[in-house]
Amino acid sequence: MAMEQSAVVVGGGMVGAATACALQLQGIPVTLIDPYPPVLDEALPSEYAIRVSALTLASKHILQSLGAWDYITAARLQPFQQMHVWDAQGNGEIHFHGDDISQPYLGYLVENFVVQKALWQRLQQLSVCTIKASVESISPLGSKGEHRLVLDDGAELRASLVIAADGANSPLRKMLGIEMAQHDYQHTAIVATVKPELSHDNTAWQRFLSTGPLAFLPLPEGFCSIVWSTTPEQADTLMSLPDEAFELQLTQAFDGRLGKVQVCSQRGAHPLTQRHVSTYVQPGIALVGDAAHTIHPLAGQGVNLGLLDAASIAEVVGSAFLKKQNIGEHLVLRRYERWRKGNNAMMMSAMSAFKSLFSHTLLPVTLVRNLGLKWMNRAKPLKREIMLNAVGLRGDLPDMAKPYFKARKS
Ligand SMILES: Cc1cc2nc3c(=O)[nH]c(=O)nc-3n(C[C@H](O)[C@H](O)[C@H](O)COP(=O)(O)OP(=O)(O)OC[C@H]3O[C@@H](n4cnc5c(N)ncnc54)[C@H](O)[C@@H]3O)c2cc1C
Repeated sequence: MAMEQSAVVVGGGMVGAATACALQLQGIPVTLIDPYPPVLDEALPSEYAIRVSALTLASKHILQSLGAWDYITAARLQPFQQMHVWDAQGNGEIHFHGDDISQPYLGYLVENFVVQKALWQRLQQLSVCTIKASVESISPLGSKGEHRLVLDDGAELRASLVIAADGANSPLRKMLGIEMAQHDYQHTAIVATVKPELSHDNTAWQRFLSTGPLAFLPLPEGFCSIVWSTTPEQADTLMSLPDEAFELQLTQAFDGRLGKVQVCSQRGAHPLTQRHVSTYVQPGIALVGDAAHTIHPLAGQGVNLGLLDAASIAEVVGSAFLKKQNIGEHLVLRRYERWRKGNNAMMMSAMSAFKSLFSHTLLPVTLVRNLGLKWMNRAKPLKREIMLNAVGLRGDLPDMAKPYFKARKS
């Protein structure tokens, strides 16, 4: 049976492309479908893209295991060594440094398209079949989990396993009728590239205002990527301001910490919603990345969780494939669901708790919160544990997320 098995990944964003690479490296023939593949032979634009992600060390290890990391370093990225978080309503603050966990860096800031393109370059090197199309319909073939997909160009495909990686509004998830719980965070995130007057000092900065967190994330050449999460009403106002007025508001909201701020790009606005599907798997089907879950960007975890999904599904399915089991079998796929669903739900609960804790303006709450931040900043062993988990050096990690793991095939 193993020789005839194949997988189709629907959606070639960062998570879908990583999933396709990981499955191919497990020896499973894969086809990747996306109507908007990245252009691979274009030179790097001089301006930074406004969609940027903070990648954990676990994500770096996954991208290294997949053989995509070198393409990223050949393009551009910004390591960060420190993180500084403080409360706008008081004097509570917490500072994290790579030295606290004996690491040179806590993570990396990379433009999303750079990560996606690197993975597609690796897919090309691995001779993965890619199709520029979208899925029109999906139907089961028999009872063993095999599915037939019809594409919008009329082509038909069959697969033992179909993986939905087609983003937060996943058309495939809708076609399959998979239920999803969602909760509006009542926040819109404004993103832009800016140049502050002072050096960002290789630090990821975040100030918690009562309306939401404002992050300045370091980029090369002294630029920063901002993620300003605030109420939808304030976001509308901020989006409508001319650059100069926006710069003034931004500098004030950041308490002038990095001096005056100059905006160097268009602004983007993203309404934030928490989503979590009721099930990650069905016979012959699995969901990964934003197709399965979306989370508030305040701790920059969305794509990091998605890359862990990608490495985990490949590990589970790769092991079944080696044992000549059916890779679409529900029992096999349930291992992936048990592994990832609880971890992702825990991260979502933590983000919701953070968001509501920092939105309180009542004096007793702000006092306790500020004391808590100061106490945690001094509680070295606890702080170290939190950091090791946050950067992805602790926890129930797939092999590819561990340092020095070598993928089976290259
Ligand atoms: C403001 C903001 C800041 C963020 N910052 C961070 C951060 O610092 N760190 C972090 O880890 N995460 C962050 N995130 C989250 C992160 O951006 C997402 O989790 C990540 O982009 C999801 O990747 P994905 O591949 O699952 O989905 P997507 O990037 O949405 O990719 C989906 C892919 O599916 C394709 N597709 C769509 N429809 C079809 C179809 N019908 N058929 C085939 N293909 C289809 C699309 O073309 C696309 O390529 C942030 C999010 C926001 C909004």
